[in-house]
Amino acid sequence: MLGALIHCTTGLDKRKAGLSASTNQSPVVTRFAPSPTGFLHIGNARTGLFSWLYARHYGGKTLLRIEDTDKARSTRQAIDVILDGLKWLGLDWDGEAYFQSQFEARHAEVANQLIERGAAYRCYLTAEELKARRERAQSERRPFRLESEWRDCRDTGPEGAPFVVRLRAPREGETVIEDVVQGRVAVSNAEIDDFVLLRSDGSPTYMLAVVVDDHDMGVTHIIRGDDHLNNAFRQLAIVKAMGWAEPTYAHVPLIHGPDGAKLSKRHGALGVHDYRDMGILPEALFNYLLRLGWGHGDDEIIVKGQAIEWFDLDHVGKSPSRFDIKKLQNLNGHYIREADDRRLAELAVPLIGPGADLDLLVRAMPELKARAHSVHEIAEGAAFLFASRPLDVDVAASALLTPESRSLLAQAHRELGAVDDWQLESLEAAVRRVADAAGVKLGKLAQPLRAALTGRTTSPGIFDVLALLGQGESLARISDQMVEPDE
Ligand code: GLU
Repeated sequence: MLGALIHCTTGLDKRKAGLSASTNQSPVVTRFAPSPTGFLHIGNARTGLFSWLYARHYGGKTLLRIEDTDKARSTRQAIDVILDGLKWLGLDWDGEAYFQSQFEARHAEVANQLIERGAAYRCYLTAEELKARRERAQSERRPFRLESEWRDCRDTGPEGAPFVVRLRAPREGETVIEDVVQGRVAVSNAEIDDFVLLRSDGSPTYMLAVVVDDHDMGVTHIIRGDDHLNNAFRQLAIVKAMGWAEPTYAHVPLIHGPDGAKLSKRHGALGVHDYRDMGILPEALFNYLLRLGWGHGDDEIIVKGQAIEWFDLDHVGKSPSRFDIKKLQNLNGHYIREADDRRLAELAVPLIGPGADLDLLVRAMPELKARAHSVHEIAEGAAFLFASRPLDVDVAASALLTPESRSLLAQAHRELGAVDDWQLESLEAAVRRVADAAGVKLGKLAQPLRAALTGRTTSPGIFDVLALLGQGESLARISDQMVEPDE
C-alpha cells in the first residue's frame, strides 16, 4: 500500500514545515466538503475528522466547503447544523467557510475553457433523444453508452437551442489513482462516459464544481468516503484536461452497522447531534470516530493532542468498520470520569428540570459520575436529590421496606437526629451504632435507608446520600417511611 511508502519518509522537520509526506514539497491542504442534508452524518463527521487531523498533523491547512448547490436543501438551518456539529466535536477550519454556490460563474468559466481546449463540447441532444437511446439499448439488451454526435462536431447547434456541456472523456488507455487508503486503483478509460459539466440552465454539476473548487482552494489531499472513489476517476479526467496538479486521494471506507451493512437509519442514530442528545461527550465521540477505522497499536483512549501527533493515513484500514454503541458508551464513561464536575452538572441540569440545584449537583458529581455512561445516566442518578416528598418508591425499593426495616429506620432517625456535625464520618458512625445496637449487619440497615432516602435500590454510597441531602431532608424522608415499634 502506498501508505507504507509515505510513512518511511515522515519526519518531524517535515511536519513542522507543514509539508506533506507524499508530495514532499507542497504544504498539506485538506478540506471537508459536506452537503447540507439536514444533519451531520457521523460517517461524514469521521472523514471530516480524518481530514482535519491529517492537516493538523502536518501543520498544514484544513478548509471547509459547504456544497450548497442544491438550493432546496441548503437552508440556513441545514448549514448551521453542520457548522454547529463540527464545532461541538472540536473541529475548526482555517479561514472562512467556503460556499460552493458562490463560485458558479467560475465553474462555467472552466467549462468554457475546457471547450476551448477541445476537452469538452456542447451537446444539443434533448432529454427525449437521450431517453429513446437509453430505451433502445435496453430493448437490445446492451449497456447504454452515450455516443453523442456533438462530441466531434464543429457546429454550434441550432440558434437558441438548449445544450449541456459534456467532457470529451478520453477513450483510450486507463486512469490510475494511487489512493493512499485503497492502493492502486485503475479504470479503463472506455468506462468513463462523456458526463455533463454544465446543465442546460448553465448550472455546474457536482462533478465539475468539486474539481474547480478543490483546485482553486489549493487542496492537496482529498480525504473522503470511498463512495466517491468512482467519482474520482471522472474528476481526475477534468483535472488532467485542465493540466492542473493532481491531488492525492484518500478514500476512507464507510462505517457499517453491527450487521455489516452500510450504516443507515435502521441502525439507529446517524447524526452527530443525536449522540450529543444521548448524553455523549464530544471528546468521547471524537475518540470513538478516530478509532473506528484507524488504529495506533492497542491504544483505545486517544485524546485530541495525541491524535494530532499520531494520526496518519497509513493506518486507516481498507475495510469498513462496524459501529459498536457499547464501545462508544464505555469510552463515554471514561471521559465522563475525566470531565470537570461543574461542566457535567451544567449538562445534566436541563435533563433534570427546573428543580435542579447546580451547586448541589456539582457536589454530588464525583459520586454520580463514577458509574455513568452518559449524561442521561448522571441525570437519572441525580433525580433523587431533587425529588419532592413523599418520594415515589419503586417496586424493588418498596420490597425492602418491611415492618422490621421500618422500625430500624425509626431507630436510625433518632440516632441521626442527634448528629450535630453532618459529615461523612459522623454519619457513618451513627448508622453503624444503630446497626450494632439492633444486632444486624450494616447492609440490613443501609438498604432500607437507601430506599427511604432515594426511592431506589441503587444510588451513591449511603453516607454520601445522607451528606448530600442534608440533615433536615434526610430525617424527613426517613420519617416518611419509618414505623415506631410500638405504633
Ligand atoms: N459533498 C459531497 C458529500 O457530502 C462530498 C464531496 C467530496 O468530498 O468530494 O458527499
